[in-house]
Amino acid sequence: MAHLISILLVITGMCCLAAALKPAFWIARFAANRNWHFLILLILLFITGYAVFLYKLLSAGASPIELVISLILGGGGVFVIMVISLSRKSIEHEQILTRKEYHSARHDSLTGLSNRAAFAEDLGEKLADAKKTGSRFAVLMFDLDRFKEINDTMGHAIGDKILRELAKRLKAIPRQYGRVSRLSGDEFVMIIPGQDESLAIEAANYLADVVEQPYILEGLSLIVDMSVGISFFPDDGDNQEHLLRCADVAMYLAKRNNQHYMIYSKDQDTLSTRNLEMISRVREALANDEFELYYQPVLEAKELKLHAFEVLIRWPQKDGSFIPPSTFIPAVEKSRFFNNITRWVISQSIRQATALNTAHEGFSININLSATDLSDNELTDYIRRCAAELDYPVSNLVFEITESAIMNDRDRAFKTITNIIGLGAKIAMDDFGTGFSSLSLLRDFPTQIIKLDTSFVTGMMSNPEDKSIIQSMIYLGHNIDRIIAAEGVEDKETADSLISMGCDLLQGYYFAKPMNYTETLEWLKLNRNP
Ligand code: C2E
Ligand code: CA
Ligand code: CA
Repeated sequence: MAHLISILLVITGMCCLAAALKPAFWIARFAANRNWHFLILLILLFITGYAVFLYKLLSAGASPIELVISLILGGGGVFVIMVISLSRKSIEHEQILTRKEYHSARHDSLTGLSNRAAFAEDLGEKLADAKKTGSRFAVLMFDLDRFKEINDTMGHAIGDKILRELAKRLKAIPRQYGRVSRLSGDEFVMIIPGQDESLAIEAANYLADVVEQPYILEGLSLIVDMSVGISFFPDDGDNQEHLLRCADVAMYLAKRNNQHYMIYSKDQDTLSTRNLEMISRVREALANDEFELYYQPVLEAKELKLHAFEVLIRWPQKDGSFIPPSTFIPAVEKSRFFNNITRWVISQSIRQATALNTAHEGFSININLSATDLSDNELTDYIRRCAAELDYPVSNLVFEITESAIMNDRDRAFKTITNIIGLGAKIAMDDFGTGFSSLSLLRDFPTQIIKLDTSFVTGMMSNPEDKSIIQSMIYLGHNIDRIIAAEGVEDKETADSLISMGCDLLQGYYFAKPMNYTETLEWLKLNRNP
């Protein structure tokens, strides 16, 4: 009996050792530690030892000592398999945790799509590979049109639901187009392989179909439009930053031109590398509060009393000089970032005008707007909020807009201008005469003031044609009930001549140059209206 028990114990020990080999091999595959390989060797040696002992047991009987040894050997086998199996389980558990962590570091928690960090990694790899193989690929960026409006009007919960539903659709797009990552809010991006543009265009059209299907939420059917921008490696850039910027610029142009997609083109890009550098500098300057506002008086021609101040932005430099707005504004005003500059100008000028108003009541402030501002759907609301916060009457605000800014997107401009007028502010058509000088624009757009451009005014005393044009414009403007302002008045003769022609408002170096806040306060003290 003791003989049989001994044999069974040794066989059990051997089987346990043999079974422990599988998890030991599994662990050795993942473990950096070489000792696991040594352990496997030991197990194999033990199995051989067990076999020799078993042979001895089979050929002779089992003494009580050998029964005890068999008991130890059987127990040893069970111990080994238990330790190794438990080790494997805890390693597996750790791996699951690591995988989960890795997944959440690379994925966006709301949509489950891969995130900005994962995209940067993918794009980095793709760039390295394409540089090695000399292949081409596209970066496709898209965002939802007016998503912020949905969030603001319907609430963030609905916005999130739309994003989740959208992500579900995006995860199901065919593999050949690549994988969609979420860059931020409603901005998505993907890498599309292919030597020519066809696959990227196909993907853009496919995405539009998928994204623009109605979203059924709480009984409502919502349609959300999107705009796509596409850039190519190596044509538009050989690093991540440039490719993403170019795709972003193309996306912005697609939105502005009401198109589903646009492929980046240098010709259409007023945001070329130099401008992009300027945007970064301006962005930094805005963050560091480096800008300053200057004020230039606009006088009522009849009594030469103060009517308004035109607000003009200045960018002072450390050496005491200024970068003139004519240098940095054209470089940045095509970028959506410019809206932040305008917002700063609006809030700062209302704040300062509130303080100035206490010294001198009744004048308005004229704020310049660019084309990009006319596409800013939230501008009107921003103006309303700023004025309300500082208790500043909106009727004291005039927004100066050039014809070319309006022509950029007539419909949107009309909407924004109508909204601004709806708030109670006024609109001045700036630089009139240099752009389209469109009479239909004058007729159709509810502008109250027409500002004749400096180029006609400064030369009018020496150029009879300029003078005749001004005379005719004053006549025309008055007949359609507009106020006529002349800017660039540099001397007394010009001022007198404009006054005799019936011009309503005058502005120019002859009266005052643009002044900083403190100078404006001083000026007000000396030129207080009676
Ligand atoms: P603008 O709106 O036509 O502004 C009038 C410009 O004429 C100002 O130049 C002003 O300093 C200048 N000026 C005033 N009186 C005279 C004069 O008697 N003779 C001459 N030759 N020039 C005179 P500034 O400040 O350099 O601004 C240039 C342009 O930059 C502005 O032209 C405007 O288009 C833009 N700008 C300035 N500030 C802002 C801003 O805050 N936002 C936007 N969007 N544009 C701005
Ligand atoms: Ca102006
Ligand atoms: Ca002007």
